[in-house]
Amino acid sequence: MRHALLLSLALLVPGMAATAADADPTWPRFRDTYKELIETNTTLSAGDCTLAAQRMAARLRAAGYPEADLHVFVPEGHPKEGGLTGILRGSDPAAKAVLLLAHIDVVEAHREDWTRDPFTLIEEDGYFYGRGTVDMKAQAAVWVDTFVRLREQGYQPKHTLKLALTCGEESGNTAVDGAQWLVEHDRPAIEAGIAITEGIDGMLDEQGRRVALGVQAAEKFYKDYTLEVTNPGGHSSRPRPDNAIYVLMHALERISAHQFPVQFVDANRLYFTRMAKITGGAQGAAMAAIVRNPRDAKAAALLDKDPNLHAMLRTTCVATLLSAGHAPNALPQRASANVNCRIMPGVPPAEVQRTLEQLVGDPAVKITATSNRDLPVPAVALTPAVLGPIEAASAELWPGVPVVPALEPGASDAIYVAPAGIPVIGVTGLFTDPDGGRMHGLDERLRVVSLVEGRDFLYRLAKRYAEQ
Ligand SMILES: [Zn+2]
Repeated sequence: MRHALLLSLALLVPGMAATAADADPTWPRFRDTYKELIETNTTLSAGDCTLAAQRMAARLRAAGYPEADLHVFVPEGHPKEGGLTGILRGSDPAAKAVLLLAHIDVVEAHREDWTRDPFTLIEEDGYFYGRGTVDMKAQAAVWVDTFVRLREQGYQPKHTLKLALTCGEESGNTAVDGAQWLVEHDRPAIEAGIAITEGIDGMLDEQGRRVALGVQAAEKFYKDYTLEVTNPGGHSSRPRPDNAIYVLMHALERISAHQFPVQFVDANRLYFTRMAKITGGAQGAAMAAIVRNPRDAKAAALLDKDPNLHAMLRTTCVATLLSAGHAPNALPQRASANVNCRIMPGVPPAEVQRTLEQLVGDPAVKITATSNRDLPVPAVALTPAVLGPIEAASAELWPGVPVVPALEPGASDAIYVAPAGIPVIGVTGLFTDPDGGRMHGLDERLRVVSLVEGRDFLYRLAKRYAEQ
């Protein structure tokens, strides 16, 4: 899955005319790769990622990759949840590799719900329709195509390029996550100085004009805490002052009134800096002010009104589940709540728990962290070596369209790869409609022009990272 760039206002930047797909002799073969991926069903219920991986491997083999440089991997006991790794060796053994990463599984799609068959690539009215057209078989096909083109050119990059196509990203804990599997079982295949994968798309306005190119460079850490109050209870005709529900309610009130401090890493600092100019007005001024002074309460109050901006500025904790009592005529013996926190990069979860305990300030309320095995994702330092290639490739294709890094308040594919020490940048170069291309939904679609340009962008980007 992935996310729309969190924009409150749209800037209208006239775009360049799209490159004509039919003027590019390599387009038909790329389109065929994309078609083959879309038409290979890779849902968890009825699909086969291993087959898709084998088909992509065949394309790389045909382009001249030796067998030793390709590896279709299949997690034990999950014959249809395989993936593919590949390598194009660089000239400088000291230069860290660049990992081109994509998941090839897709969200379930039922023919009877769709207007068109989700597993047939249909080109209609300037759009490609089909499950995975956006999320994320476009980028997966571009990575395979990039590998094919570079090999055919006899191109040797300075940095080694690595390819990883994985399964299981869309299925949560019900499937094997291929990226996690690679971290645990074939680390050398993905070891890299940087990984590029999906994250945030380019954003079009209602008129199809390019607004901004999004770059995901940080994400928050998901953590649940259970608040629990127990009490001997008793008959409800004889209330006592230490009612478990009231005690819990007061604790939740104190948490709800709390604002965690504004915190910046490169991703949200650059987001607010660049969006200040794009947004303008009072909100734009507040964005600039909060970057200058994170303690500017007036600016924060204005920005906090927008849930998207609020979530990008601070750690948040919010009550999401509540359970209490056992009978209408009995005092509650137990009251509990789940508080879901989204923690800023770099903040230890234990520190957030301490804050919750201090806020509650009542030993009758027991606070426990719910175990989760995921590790926090370190924010990517947006140095010129990281952001420069994106800005340069974007300026070549879309002069004047701003590149806007962002911090994702949710969680992404980076949860497995980034904690292993590989910085993950989420950029697709695919400009999607304000509806996000109906990712995960019915009649998922991508503009043909967006794919033509996005393919060009990602190819240039891979080369720029590989050469610098
Ligand atoms: Zn995805």
